[in-house]
Amino acid sequence: MLNIHLVPCLKDNYAYLVHEPATSSVAIVDPSEAAPVVAALKAHNLKLTHILNTHHHFDHTGGNLPLKEATGARIVGPRADRDRIPGIDEDVGEGDTWSLGQAKANIFDIPAHTKGHIAFWFEADKAVFTGDTMFAMGCGRLFEGTPAQMWSSLSKLAALPADTRVYCGHEYTLANGKFAVTLEPGNAALKKRLAEVERLRAEGKPTIPSTIGLERETNPFLRAESKELRKSLGLESADNVAVLAETRRRKDVF
Ligand SMILES: [Zn+2]
Repeated sequence: MLNIHLVPCLKDNYAYLVHEPATSSVAIVDPSEAAPVVAALKAHNLKLTHILNTHHHFDHTGGNLPLKEATGARIVGPRADRDRIPGIDEDVGEGDTWSLGQAKANIFDIPAHTKGHIAFWFEADKAVFTGDTMFAMGCGRLFEGTPAQMWSSLSKLAALPADTRVYCGHEYTLANGKFAVTLEPGNAALKKRLAEVERLRAEGKPTIPSTIGLERETNPFLRAESKELRKSLGLESADNVAVLAETRRRKDVF
């Protein structure tokens, strides 16, 4: 079974140290920078074997080269953006499986935030690394893709088992929740979660991981079928992609 440790980086990024004890395999997911990762490895007395990137943005790959240089770790990233992943050794894409020691991950292509964006789903460990595609109560900005792509990408993630833990790229949960409640003020699960998130943040604690089940209940970007959300947007009879597009547009200016 995997041990997963949060590694806060930069202002609000999370990298994740993933330890597979049976073979002493250790991956860092989306290292923004090297120093906090080196400190976390030391604190847990671990030796890095792999670097996993969900997408090319600098705040997810900035630590790639210094960490590879220092540890010899092998870098794995999205095939569709191979040319933009610093130091990449192995590319993966939709339908592939990739293993960290004895822990198998299924790979999904989840484009829209960037052209090549992947998720690593460790089914047996009930964990998925979603980068900047699915956030807790939010989704990434559409820098290189369309609302239809984001709907398709988020739908793949939303279809995972409800108890799957969601490890995303940023601590944006409080701002996301404050936006979400403007669209679904009658969503009891959302209000309960927002209160919990406010408490955690007031104590300086992370709100990650989330779960797929909780996201289905509270993430407005997965809830295009909600009557209340549609009414708030004035899009009662639009298709789901149009609802997501308008939700994203409003979040961009919130
Ligand atoms: Zn990004």
